[in-house]
This record gives sequence, structure tokens and C-alpha cells, in this order.
Amino acid sequence: MTTLKSLACLGVLALVPLAAFAQDFFGPLDGLKLAKPEDGIDTPSTPAPAGALLLFDGKSLNNWTSKDGGPASWELLSGGSMQVKKGDLVTKEKFDGHFKLHVEFRVPYMPKATGQGRGNSGVYSQGRYEVQILDSYGLMSLDNDCGGIYKVATPLVNACKAPTVWQAYDIDFTAPKFADGKKVAPAKINVIQNGQPIHKDVLIPIDNTVSGMGGDPSTPGPIMLQDHGNPVQYRNIWLVKVKD
Ligand code: MG
Repeated sequence: MTTLKSLACLGVLALVPLAAFAQDFFGPLDGLKLAKPEDGIDTPSTPAPAGALLLFDGKSLNNWTSKDGGPASWELLSGGSMQVKKGDLVTKEKFDGHFKLHVEFRVPYMPKATGQGRGNSGVYSQGRYEVQILDSYGLMSLDNDCGGIYKVATPLVNACKAPTVWQAYDIDFTAPKFADGKKVAPAKINVIQNGQPIHKDVLIPIDNTVSGMGGDPSTPGPIMLQDHGNPVQYRNIWLVKVKD
């Protein structure tokens, strides 16, 4: 019995260092100098307007599945958010035409990571066109940085908040138009990040950005949130269908 007790004791002790070294990705921004104080203040949450489709209300993942149609695997957190875990997430509903999508997110503080490995995720309209999510705080933004239409368009300004701080995208998306099987108008996108316009009427010349779901671009597609291996968090996601 003494031996068992000792082993149990060792087991408990072995857990202590792990807990002590567990990284708090949403803890204090030690070592990060903010360019201005508001960069460290959350963008206020915007309630869904009347008639909006509430895709994520912070309470359940009922409107989402994995990309292959399996159960949504992301972690539901107390406080009404969810965190990337085990694969891309897609809405059960697919969308076409013109819609406005509101997404709130925050990226982890990963001071030792760089480039595309630093708080990477992304919001894909129709599963095909990514607005990049990344920790691009304070950088000269490129087309693969936060707010970029991935490898298609560079944000007009770097509107990023500091990591761990809640941000918002308001994406106004119009699907490409087809007639007689031919594309007659490309996808069009406007994006506002934290209240600042970062894309104005950008025409997307391709039918799928990197790591998108692809498929027939004339068909509806889901909203997809990317798992790029980093613990990015989301809250309050809603969509308004626009009748032009
Ligand atoms: Mg991404």
C-alpha cells in the first residue's frame, strides 16, 4: 500500500510542473508595447440585428459541423466563446448571393511564434474566400496578414488590435454570378475591421483561396472557420441575407 501511495503521490507531483508551465495564451501581454492604449481595449460586441441568423450565440455549436459533416469539435468556453480545436468548422447552412457576416474573434499571445504560425485562423465565405485571421499587430500588413483576402488583397490599413483583445470583422460578401455556366461577375467583398474599412469593393479574381473548400463556385457554400493549429477564439457570429 505504501508503494501505491507513493506512486499516487508521484503522479500528483508530476502534474504540478505541467500545470505550472501551461501557457496562458490569453494572459497578460508581457513584453508587448502597445502603439496606443485603445489597441488593448476590446472592440465592443455588436448584437445581432432583427432578422439576422445567429450562427454562434456562445451557448452551443448546433449550427456547425466539421468539414466532413461530423460533430463540431471546437471547445465551447465559459463566457460565450469557442476555441479552435481539431479541424475546420463549417456552418450547416450554405449561403449564396449577397450577405453580411459579423464575426468577433481574438488571437492568442504567442510572442515566440512568427509569421503564419502566430494566431492563424480565418473566415471563409462560401468556404472558398478567406479573410485571414492572424496576429499581425503593429506590422506593415501584406495580403496574407490579418485582414488580408488571402494572397489576393492587402488590407487598406492595419486595423488590428493587440493579441488577446476582442476584434470584429464585418464582411459584406457577394457571390460570383454565373450565366449559362460562365462566370459573368467575380465574387465581391467589403470588409470592416474594428470599425475601419480595410477592403472596398474588392473583386476576387479566383474561385478559391488557399486551403478553401473549393467546389463549384456557382453553388452555395458554408461559412468556414479555419483550424491552423492555433488557439484562436470566436464569439457572437451572425449573418444577414441581403436582397438586392
Ligand atoms: Mg488563415
